[in-house]
Amino acid sequence: MHLFYSDVFVLPLPSHHRFPMGKYARLRERLLAGGDFGVDDFGVPAAVTDAQITRVHCADYLGRVVGGTLSAAEQKAIGFPWSERMVERSRRSSGATLAAAREALTRGWGANLAGGTHHAFRDRGEGFCVFNDAAIAARALQGEAGLTRIAVIDCDVHQGNGTASIFAGDDSVFTFSIHGARNFPFSKEKSDLDVELADGTGDDEYLWHLESALDETLERSRAQLAIYLAGADPFEGDRLGRLKLTKRGLARRDEMVLGTLAARAIPVAIAMAGGYAQDIEDSVDIHANTIRTAQRIFEAA
Ligand SMILES: [Zn+2]
Repeated sequence: MHLFYSDVFVLPLPSHHRFPMGKYARLRERLLAGGDFGVDDFGVPAAVTDAQITRVHCADYLGRVVGGTLSAAEQKAIGFPWSERMVERSRRSSGATLAAAREALTRGWGANLAGGTHHAFRDRGEGFCVFNDAAIAARALQGEAGLTRIAVIDCDVHQGNGTASIFAGDDSVFTFSIHGARNFPFSKEKSDLDVELADGTGDDEYLWHLESALDETLERSRAQLAIYLAGADPFEGDRLGRLKLTKRGLARRDEMVLGTLAARAIPVAIAMAGGYAQDIEDSVDIHANTIRTAQRIFEAA
């Protein structure tokens, strides 16, 4: 199996909440119904352990998350009310990115059908992110697989501020983020490479910037593994995106990122990251296409 899901760990949210919890189960159903994947391709990941989490997050923060003692302000910044299931889901979602990365090292690619929780910092969470899954996976593989050069390619429309902060001054993990200049987070961190785009940026301009930034990322990082955050939220129909990419443009983005990695024989773990389309089926379409594109590119060889 190479597609890891945590949608069975649903956390209780009020009905008006804007986090699209239903998106993840829909994505798995969509992929199964399309006939490109069978039930054996999907797996529930192990939860990440405290030891794996504390290679990224401080023990004090982990203790508050696990013990349910996050302050009201901390919970508000995360955007979820605390619950046992929030903790379990966060552990499983990080576990899915770790499992996908391990799979990538043997198969070329693997995917988390959720994850991409890039707004989680060492000592705090925000923007629907509790633990930083890409950072936890990177640290774990540095330990167990001896990797020394990993690149995070963050194409979610929001800056990967938590990831940038966690790996600031660390040459072993290169952080690249391409995002909306005027979008959340309004106070940005410094990634190893940031590309900031104006509101309303469309397909051609986006892809022009991405192509050169991707080359620079792979040149400078000499990555042995990439972690790709394939956010669906640069989409023109996204409620939180502010950019104007079409589905066709997002498909070309995925082909560019995954095709470039495959051509250089760099394994990739894919996480879905954001996607908040007016019609959630549009976000599901975009995420499903990312997975099918990876299968087509990596399984063709
Ligand atoms: Zn986002």
